[in-house]
Amino acid sequence: SDVITVAELAKRMGVKGKDLIKELMRQGTMVTINHPLDFETAAILASEFNYEVENVAFDEETLLEHSSVKGAEEASADDLKTRPPVVTIMGHVDHGKTSLLDAIRTANVTAGEAGGITQHIGAYDVELDGKKITFLDTPGHEAFTAMRARGAKVTDIVILVVAADDGVMPQTREAINHAKAAGVPIIVAINKMDKPNATPDKVRQGLTEFGLVSEDWGGDTIFVEVSAKLHTNLDRLLEMILLQAEVMDLKANPTKRVRGIIVEARLDKGRGPVVTVLVQEGTLKIGDPIVAGTHYGRVRSMINDRGERVDAAGPSFPVEVTGLSGVPDAGDMFHAVEDEKTAKDVAQHRAQKLRETELARTSKVSLEQLFARI
Ligand code: GDP
Ligand code: MG
Repeated sequence: SDVITVAELAKRMGVKGKDLIKELMRQGTMVTINHPLDFETAAILASEFNYEVENVAFDEETLLEHSSVKGAEEASADDLKTRPPVVTIMGHVDHGKTSLLDAIRTANVTAGEAGGITQHIGAYDVELDGKKITFLDTPGHEAFTAMRARGAKVTDIVILVVAADDGVMPQTREAINHAKAAGVPIIVAINKMDKPNATPDKVRQGLTEFGLVSEDWGGDTIFVEVSAKLHTNLDRLLEMILLQAEVMDLKANPTKRVRGIIVEARLDKGRGPVVTVLVQEGTLKIGDPIVAGTHYGRVRSMINDRGERVDAAGPSFPVEVTGLSGVPDAGDMFHAVEDEKTAKDVAQHRAQKLRETELARTSKVSLEQLFARI
């Protein structure tokens, strides 16, 4: 149950700690100033001093909200800045999702960076005419559904890859359903245009069934014909993403306290828990107290997808972060909070709630097993 130390209770009541200790002694309890009191004891003790103790339930929402409200108070429309779109590539197996992600990334690596090490952190950003686009390269469908199941919206735009020599397949349908359910606009990339048996119009035809009608067929869905293999038309695809993003007018407040999403998480032998965070609001900095799932800590280091150390990451930027106490799940929310104590409180409260749910489930199971035996 909830506890409070003698010192803390005395402070809140505005009395001397030694007076509380004296009163406890009178009641037959010998304690020191840092002794934890349960709610009952604290209530009885306080009533002796004509105080009433209220057991305020732990309210995570308020704690996290309070974190951002502080920024929001000062926020004005001017603080909303255009942010890069976050893009997920989806489509049927073997239609070229991985190839397209690799091709876009390689094509975008400038001469100076060519020798640089690219780091797989689950997301990367590219630049076209000074404008950035963030690509999530976590295994498409699962990550997308897992994150959505947690109520997290990560993606602004879905690139639906359809192989020109294969057409609409079961996972193409699935991808369309996911995108539609999430209310995320779709841009169609007809891939493998280099193949002699490419029939892009068959793809166009197949997609009309789902209301995805290309602009040259009188609809409003953007189609781009590409070849991931030959790197054909990739800039055109990026241009169309930026165009779509402009229409969506994507904005975020970089001055707010940070809210983001865990894109990937793992345990590194040397560095401990390592997570990739996609920042959605605010600007993450070294030293920020953070909480993700049931884990907490402070940002110890940040690196980008090119393996470079960074000391700040704003909206839509993916960074690999160390400093958490444990490994959260992909799709978990990530918050920067007031101080490390708040981070710890939120994380521990979540862990406790999880244990309670776990316990409730196991006791239910054993009860069912018991009945099954009867
Ligand atoms: P994923 O399962 O959707 O990630 O598909 P992959 O990227 O792994 O590609 C599946 C296969 O298609 C691989 O053998 C690729 O080399 C090939 N492939 C991908 N894109 C192209 C393309 O544009 N043209 C051709 N000819 N082959 C491609
Ligand atoms: Mg793949």
